[in-house]
Amino acid sequence: MVLPGHLAGGYLATRAVLAIFHPALTASQSTWMLILGTISGDLPDIDVAIFSFTHLIGSKTAKKQHRSYVTHTPIFWLAVSAAAALIGLAASSAFILTLSAVILAGSWSHLLFDSIEYGVRWLWPFSDRSYALRYPPESESAHRRGSIAYYWEFISKAYFKNLTSYAEILVTLAAIWLLVSR
Ligand SMILES: [Zn+2]
Repeated sequence: MVLPGHLAGGYLATRAVLAIFHPALTASQSTWMLILGTISGDLPDIDVAIFSFTHLIGSKTAKKQHRSYVTHTPIFWLAVSAAAALIGLAASSAFILTLSAVILAGSWSHLLFDSIEYGVRWLWPFSDRSYALRYPPESESAHRRGSIAYYWEFISKAYFKNLTSYAEILVTLAAIWLLVSR
């Protein structure tokens, strides 16, 4: 899944959190929550920056794929969300408390989508095994991993053969529909 699908997933997750908890937020706080929640849907991919940079400089610490970093593990976002919840409780802030739930829902929606075909280490740090519904055959690329050419080749050739791309289109349409019918 690429950026639009994950952002749409974050938006849907935030709408769900707001619908379930009905937090006491002002209109502008709710708008900010939706913006931050939408972004949280793609938070795990901040490791793309570290991944691309380590490959660019040819670092020995460069990993084979960006999903090998801790930001693609559920426990990391559980810890971030718990820390935010503690701050929210200490400050008696409905906004921060809601944000903690939104961070968890958004980031985990990302990990769920990545579990369709890419694989997520759901049990890390207890196990390094990746879980996915299925693993499509790996496409060999002549381009350096993490380079623009590599991503372009992935988007233009492999992406639309994947199940994930259909989930992405569905989620994006659902988010747009909810957004306009708000
Ligand atoms: Zn991801």
